[in-house]
Amino acid sequence: MHELSIAMQIIEIVEEEAKNHAAVGISAIKLDIGKLSGIEPDALEFAMEEAVRGSMAEKAEVQYNYIQAVSVCEDCCHEFESQDYFKTCPFCNSLNTSLIRGKELKIAAIDLITN
Ligand SMILES: [Zn+2]
Repeated sequence: MHELSIAMQIIEIVEEEAKNHAAVGISAIKLDIGKLSGIEPDALEFAMEEAVRGSMAEKAEVQYNYIQAVSVCEDCCHEFESQDYFKTCPFCNSLNTSLIRGKELKIAAIDLITN
């Protein structure tokens, strides 16, 4: 499952970060997930529950911040919400648009428990 391997990678990264800071655990993980990142929210949230088991993040509160995709029109410079990669500008009907937000999948913040 795609989301499970992503969840495992997230745990790997946060554990690495925790070890680098000599933390004893992780209390919270904040994730930024673009709506066009290809991530299925339910599948990711389920996968995260599996992935944290037995890890330093076992008791961490995982926060999911789903980010609406936004495109910009190269011709009239308007920004607009988009559901797809390629979209016609709703202001001037130009096809010359590009996605500026919504593809990201990143760890926005990690709260570590230190002693
Ligand atoms: Zn336009």
